[in-house]
Amino acid sequence: VTAPAPRLFVVARPVLDAAAIERFLADEGVAWRRSAGATAAEEVVELAGRVCYFSFGERQSPRTNAEYIANLVRQGHESVLEHASWSFLLAGVSRAFTHQFVRHRAGFSYSQLSQQYHDESAAEVVMPAAIRRDAAAATIWSEAVGAAHTAYRELLATLADALPQLPEERERLRLLRTAARSVLPAATETKLVFSANARALRHFLALRGDIPGDEEMRVVSALLLDALQIEAPALFADFARETGPDGLPVVRARQDGER
Ligand SMILES: Cc1cc2nc3c(=O)[nH]c(=O)nc-3n(C[C@H](O)[C@H](O)[C@H](O)COP(=O)(O)OP(=O)(O)OC[C@H]3O[C@@H](n4cnc5c(N)ncnc54)[C@H](O)[C@@H]3O)c2cc1C
Repeated sequence: VTAPAPRLFVVARPVLDAAAIERFLADEGVAWRRSAGATAAEEVVELAGRVCYFSFGERQSPRTNAEYIANLVRQGHESVLEHASWSFLLAGVSRAFTHQFVRHRAGFSYSQLSQQYHDESAAEVVMPAAIRRDAAAATIWSEAVGAAHTAYRELLATLADALPQLPEERERLRLLRTAARSVLPAATETKLVFSANARALRHFLALRGDIPGDEEMRVVSALLLDALQIEAPALFADFARETGPDGLPVVRARQDGER
């Protein structure tokens, strides 16, 4: 069964403890003029930046939160952006995609569906857009992934009695599924929870968002940008979603001054 399009859910986001911040400001005898409408993610970044320069009270410039963040980015003071982070649930993507995705190490954490603990007999598959557009290619592809799934189920059945007994049933299943999954296609659908901070997400979008030949990566990048521009527009104001010649999205990092 072909999986539905990738789905991205924001499952956790920053929350400011306004009372704690007020206690700090009172202790220091300063005030912080906050921008109306800024989200917690945007405000925690501004707060962290202001602590660096202690630009509270009389030392606070008239800049809004969005202008303040734009200036941090312009100056390359991006470590401050690491204080805003989110957790996402991503489903409907291929194992081929996640193999590339999890290469992003700095500021990312992952928890992915295991093919050792989960029986993949009913796994869905993600058809690449390039194949979806070509009926002949789609037939070749469907036959190949169908054969791979049949082989997977047959291997589970054949190996079930042949494998050595292990003290724990859980380890016997791991052995069985690990052997059988070796024939599963890279198109097999997977799901993962990942957490990442704004700096890491910006790096990911800049590196991966507009690679013409990587359609699944572009689609996920666009989902991510859509979510982040709701969560913290000021932190992602210099990225824009466009549509590529293939009708799929492209995420572009705007040049300085285009915010
Ligand atoms: C077009 C393209 C083609 C690619 N082709 C291949 C390929 O053929 N084979 C392949 O294996 N991978 C390939 N990759 C993956 C690529 O090499 C990276 O592993 C992946 O893009 C993650 O990028 P990153 O290391 O910048 O990200 P992160 O791991 O998130 O790191 C972010 C940044 O932190 C710094 N950093 C992180 N770790 C270290 C470290 N150990 N030492 C010093 N600085 C560090 C770097 O500045 C890095 O850019 C490709 C990526 C792209 C975009």
